[in-house]
Amino acid sequence: MTDTIFAKIVRREIPADIVYEDDDVLAFRDLNPQAPVHVLFIPKRAIATLDDAVPGDAEVLGKLLLAAAAFARAQGLAKDGYRTVINTNGHGGQTVFHIHVHLLAGRQMHWPPG
Ligand code: IMP
Repeated sequence: MTDTIFAKIVRREIPADIVYEDDDVLAFRDLNPQAPVHVLFIPKRAIATLDDAVPGDAEVLGKLLLAAAAFARAQGLAKDGYRTVINTNGHGGQTVFHIHVHLLAGRQMHWPPG
């Protein structure tokens, strides 16, 4: 179930525009960007959804957010601001069941989201 297209990207079985990598985290540009900057931060070890996360995942979940923040800062996106999103299951709009943090930037975001 967790062997998704993102696991294939981690294993380099399909191409991706990778912008950040460390031992635990991989980040790549979204194929269908919803903002001028749209990057996905994923754990290399798959967790299907936020609902599947357990206390032992706390460190890697924190790393996803810190990697997104560091990327935004390094790209000069932090001052204007950005949005980070985790979609969970059907009503959340999740389509790929390997947990990911969306980083969206480069335009004004609106609230409430659709
Ligand atoms: P979700 O709807 O929160 O699960 O987000 C999945 C995201 O993955 C969507 O924004 C898709 O555009 C993106 N996506 C799907 N397949 C690929 C891919 O192969 N490379 C990069 N992004 C992808």
